[in-house]
Amino acid sequence: MKTAISSATEVASAAPAPSTAGAAVRFRDPQIEMAHGAGGKASRRLVEGLFVPLFGGAAGALRGPLADAAHLEVDGARLAFTADSFVVRPLRFPGGSIGEVAVHGTVNDLAVSAARPLALLVTFVLEEGLPSAVLEAEVRALALAAERAGVEIVGGDTKVVERGKADGMYITTAGIGRIDPRARCAARSVQPGDQVLLSGPIGDHGITILLARGDIDLEAELRSDTRSVYPLVERLLDAAAPGVRWMRDPTRGGVATALNELARDCGLGIALFEEEIPVRDAVRGACELLGLDPLHIANEGQFLAVVAPELADAALAAIRAAPGGEAAVLVGEVRAEPARTVLGVASYGGMRVVDMLSGDPLPRIC
Ligand code: MG
Repeated sequence: MKTAISSATEVASAAPAPSTAGAAVRFRDPQIEMAHGAGGKASRRLVEGLFVPLFGGAAGALRGPLADAAHLEVDGARLAFTADSFVVRPLRFPGGSIGEVAVHGTVNDLAVSAARPLALLVTFVLEEGLPSAVLEAEVRALALAAERAGVEIVGGDTKVVERGKADGMYITTAGIGRIDPRARCAARSVQPGDQVLLSGPIGDHGITILLARGDIDLEAELRSDTRSVYPLVERLLDAAAPGVRWMRDPTRGGVATALNELARDCGLGIALFEEEIPVRDAVRGACELLGLDPLHIANEGQFLAVVAPELADAALAAIRAAPGGEAAVLVGEVRAEPARTVLGVASYGGMRVVDMLSGDPLPRIC
């Protein structure tokens, strides 16, 4: 879950909000813990219990299911607007760096809102003493990633904090995109029988960061999957726009959290064919070692799409035909029962409830 407010949260629509003075704050946690930034249950508690009541309430700008970007209508143009902060440690890792992730994270939130990314603002919080060469490397990474993603960096801001703060740098990006006029994505339009597609292997980013920190004694050839998913989304919309009901990039909290949010928001169940989900050996191995579920591990270059059954084959073929989409796969189906639940279903008939992420097993992975 992502909002335009926290490190990653999203809002559904924007309209003039009534006064929210006295709105019911339900957030009762005595202090902020790492889990409040992990994208799972605690993040949801914070956003829904504190931000939503005070920033708009039931009738205001944050009404409806939380999404990856706010939707605005300006003189007839439908726009998506979002922001994301990046605090990943270390700054560089196999397959990417904070600068690249800062572009892709925001671009992907626009993409899964069916919006063509147009422009980004970039804000740096820099630590006193940061070598200029380190900053230059990230500015170059941002510029290159933006160019490749077809999005312009049009402004930003810089702040510096004392030595020992900010771990070198934090980056915030805000992005705006134009929603594809063919798209009608919303959790409420998801129906039983709809098919769940996944663009490729899961867990690469989270486990790459874990290994880059040297937290576990495991050698593996693994790279972050950080990339823009917009080219894949565009092909999907070309092939099946009227049937694309919902999309989400499973970043923090992973596929399990994203699908649980969908199940909650649409009031239906999701059968997840776990054996179909591609997981690299290195990711599976690290997860086994640490007692983690690959379904809870963050991705930075994959997306989930729920597609009407009659267009699912065409949708999957379109993603697979796009460069980088070859590993896309059908991973689940929406069902009426059990409502608001994600069930892992095995070919031999076994079943298990797949829950949202709770706690924060891998802090600061993006
Ligand atoms: Mg997202």
